[in-house]
Amino acid sequence: MGQELFSPLLGIIAMAGTILGFLIGWVVRRSMHAAEKQESGRLMRSYQELSQDTITLQEELSRKREIATRIPMIVSSLSGRMPINAIPPIAVRFMKEFFHASQVGFFAQAKGEKRFTLIEGVGFPEDWKGKIRIDPEEGIMGMALHNNIVATRDDYLGVRGQFPAGIHSLEKNGVSADLVVPVSMDLSILGALVVGSSTVRIGEETPLASMIADLIGNAFQHATTIESVEQKASIDPLTRIFTRGHFIHLFEAEIRRARNYSHPLSLLLLDIDHFKKVNDTYGHPVGDIILKSLGEILSKSIRSSDFAARYGGEEFTVVMRLASKEQAHTFANNLRQTIESTEFRIPGQEHPLRVTISGGLATFPEDGTSTTELIQSADEALYEAKQTGRNRIVRAHQIGLDGSPVR
Ligand code: GH3
Ligand code: MG
Ligand code: MG
Repeated sequence: MGQELFSPLLGIIAMAGTILGFLIGWVVRRSMHAAEKQESGRLMRSYQELSQDTITLQEELSRKREIATRIPMIVSSLSGRMPINAIPPIAVRFMKEFFHASQVGFFAQAKGEKRFTLIEGVGFPEDWKGKIRIDPEEGIMGMALHNNIVATRDDYLGVRGQFPAGIHSLEKNGVSADLVVPVSMDLSILGALVVGSSTVRIGEETPLASMIADLIGNAFQHATTIESVEQKASIDPLTRIFTRGHFIHLFEAEIRRARNYSHPLSLLLLDIDHFKKVNDTYGHPVGDIILKSLGEILSKSIRSSDFAARYGGEEFTVVMRLASKEQAHTFANNLRQTIESTEFRIPGQEHPLRVTISGGLATFPEDGTSTTELIQSADEALYEAKQTGRNRIVRAHQIGLDGSPVR
């Protein structure tokens, strides 16, 4: 009997044990599974973060490599000898490539004005060059130039109350600048580079932008010094026209061109009549005033393709490109008449002075084919003008095969 009762109980207990075991197993497995899942999620996240870090690091590394190759490029392209107006295009191209920007412009003061204009740019409207006017005290440009610092868009947002964007600002003209970099020379601001639509993290690169601006400023300084030294040697300080040395240099080049293209080229050599008398009567400083005014008359009278020079004390030359002897003669005679009818007003003198000139004209190739020959022919003609009464222009005479002048 005991045996009979015991056996179903045992069965129940065994079954309950099995179910419990199963349940415990299930719970344990379930919790292990959750922990694993959590762990693998965590691992996945760190893996993703790590990959992102790797990508960022790779990007930073490639940007650093790019910087390391581009900086020497701008240093070398700006260190050569170049005219001042070659610098803005170099600066703009460099900034565009360096900052991966689609809009870069070099703005500087418009001639005789306070406002800036676009000197050189990419990504700006075609008609902006020389035409647009930007107030250097407004907007982000104002912030950069007023403080002479590199200004980023974020920097500007913090202080825009101080530099509101008026109607002549970049902002009101539709330019959303990422960066404005002032370019200065000798502590004075020359202009500003404006960078827009850049795809690099520009905020982190302001020290580089500053360094590039210094390089550009130095290039301007260098070119300005060279140009002023060259100008001193090629421009006569009293008359503001070319010196004899520079005239010879330019004339030689013109003769070569005339020869290569079979163009005519004329040379006028002119000399003030009785100039000694002006000096003797009114004094040397008055003579200087006349010489200076004559330089102005020459500069104003010649065509843009021609040039005038002070050949000696009171002797001048005018080189007329593409001018046949007839055309040059007409020009020279008009010039002679202009001078004859000019009243030179002298401070302290009641009556204005008048002077006349005599001129000799020689034309390439008939009167000579070299600098020396043409100057000599013009000089001989000038001598004849003096001999035959002054205040006249004489054309050089071609020498015939028999050695006598061809008239
Ligand atoms: P012409 O040519 O008609 O024969 O007479 P001229 O009196 O002009 O002749 P000449 O060539 O002998 O004199 C030129 C004078 O020009 C002599 C010199 O004092 C003067 N002269 C030369 N250079 C300068 C200068 O830079 N300033 C002034 N004031 N005079 C100068
Ligand atoms: Mg003379
Ligand atoms: Mg003279």
